[in-house]
Amino acid sequence: MSLEFSEELSAPLISPSYAPADAGEVGLRPKLLRDYTGQEKAKGNLSVYIEAARRRNEPLDHTLLYGPPGLGKTTLAGVIANEMGVNIRITSGPAIEKPGDLAALLTNLNPGDILFIDEIHRLNRAVEEILYPAMEDFAIDIIVGKGPSANSIRLDLPKFTLVGATTRAGQLSAPLRDRFGVSLRLELYTPEELSRIVTRSATILGMDIDPKGAHEIASRSRGTPRIANRFLRRVRDFAQVIGDGVITREVADLALKRLEVDELGLDAIDRRMLRAIIEHYGGGPVGLETLAATIGEEAVTLEDVYEPYLMQLGFLTRTSRGRCVTSTAYAHLHIPCSTQASFDV
Ligand code: ADP
Repeated sequence: MSLEFSEELSAPLISPSYAPADAGEVGLRPKLLRDYTGQEKAKGNLSVYIEAARRRNEPLDHTLLYGPPGLGKTTLAGVIANEMGVNIRITSGPAIEKPGDLAALLTNLNPGDILFIDEIHRLNRAVEEILYPAMEDFAIDIIVGKGPSANSIRLDLPKFTLVGATTRAGQLSAPLRDRFGVSLRLELYTPEELSRIVTRSATILGMDIDPKGAHEIASRSRGTPRIANRFLRRVRDFAQVIGDGVITREVADLALKRLEVDELGLDAIDRRMLRAIIEHYGGGPVGLETLAATIGEEAVTLEDVYEPYLMQLGFLTRTSRGRCVTSTAYAHLHIPCSTQASFDV
């Protein structure tokens, strides 16, 4: 059995975006707020809004969830539906191609239902324009017929809640953003929170894990539950093949090393990115596009997938002139700081 993993193979492993191999995660999704670990600030506010809407017997206000991928936006939308006791329809911005697609979704909702639109920043303009009156007045205008005989009819919709999710709140148009009554930002999770998530997932999947094993996986999962659950499944393979089935700290460490994930959760691309800034640009500042071209990755991947965690670790800073590597990152990569240029701004 070959256990060598190339950079190409390890990259998707740490990608927080949904991959087909994550299909099993559906069963791991918490159903109620009390099972939804972490995100205390968002959860605290949300529970008040849910309780208030329930007491008034009204649907929840339209809610925008934003933050990096894999942090639990879809899960939270499901939790909201369960807490409100309503149905949820799940779709995504790119999947709604024409205004008619959205009209069909909206007219099929029951009163109080939740329409969840993932990647809502990717809705096209024509579709977005239908959404404005739907959100504001619970009505849509449909054009019937063509040419001079075309007529616009107003269709009333049931009162529903739109839950939108985006990794890039800044890319939402102002009119759309303004129509959300509630806006919640999800943050990267702490290793302790991820430890609880990993332990819960292991219990659901019937795996034997000790607390140190859970902590080892958690502290290397880039603050992201999707990655933690993915690592858990990979570490289990190692535990079963080379151990006695129990996920211990040693097995987790060995498995993650084999997957080229270091003790802080950095993978080959993180290291390449930091090294490129140090070796080619004296530690920065360097523009995102230039950096992306230097290491042969897409700028949006670097921005959405790699930077949030490197910034949380304090390894990278964003300045108006570009990205800079900090002295902590030099220390982690064992590169002497003498090569450091003007940074740590
Ligand atoms: P997003 O929509 O932000 O990309 P998801 O909601 O699909 O993320 O979450 C990815 C996976 O991580 C889920 O299947 C779930 O198992 C797990 N997860 C996310 N947030 C939590 C949480 N707060 N508590 C427990 N598990 C979580």
